[in-house]
Amino acid sequence: MRYAAAAVSELNLILLGPPGAGKGTQAERLQADFGLAHISTGDMLRAEVAAGTDLGVRAKAYMDRGELVPDRVIIDMIKERIAQEGAGEGFLLDGFPRNEAQADALAEALDAAGKTLNAVILIEVPDDEVVRRLAGRRVCVKNPSHIYHVELDPPKHEGICDQDGARLIQRDDDREETIRRRLEVYHAHTAPLIAYYERQGLLRRFDGERSVEELGDRIRATLAALRLEERL
Ligand SMILES: [Zn+2]
Repeated sequence: MRYAAAAVSELNLILLGPPGAGKGTQAERLQADFGLAHISTGDMLRAEVAAGTDLGVRAKAYMDRGELVPDRVIIDMIKERIAQEGAGEGFLLDGFPRNEAQADALAEALDAAGKTLNAVILIEVPDDEVVRRLAGRRVCVKNPSHIYHVELDPPKHEGICDQDGARLIQRDDDREETIRRRLEVYHAHTAPLIAYYERQGLLRRFDGERSVEELGDRIRATLAALRLEERL
């Protein structure tokens, strides 16, 4: 029976980690290396709103009021998305689940779709390192794709863009107090999830202070071994 099920060779994953941990970069690599579908709730919400779907209209009403989109709206969206997901290579969930209620709903949705969660990848970075990475960012006022870092990638002349000579600024999102607040929210929501998936034996921890390449290699090795086990 195990051999017959296409789901056996799928890799269905959750990616967890604080802001600034490099989740986006690792997600891109995993997509490329394992052919995974990248399911980001942030991107999906923006797409639903832009397309003016029922769900998008519901979500936009909350966003316009500056409120969090409630669990049931997000859960409906993910359920629909997972139901659409065919017998592919698997998927990588990013930005979901954010709490235990969402994790329970995900388990139900996977069950209904005949799918299994294979691993939860946690990229760990200490708070002070997150602050160092994010608070050091400087952005060009003329072109926001011109990004520098005061320590890691400084411009030739302090406060001035190398490419067009425009002024460099720190975005409000990158201010230390804003980052610390986001980290508090992250820890409050994620700590119970970490315990939740640890109890299920699904949690895989990775040291996010390693280089992008080394971190990528370690995640890849773990997942390759996991896929091999699944196929045996
Ligand atoms: Zn510039």
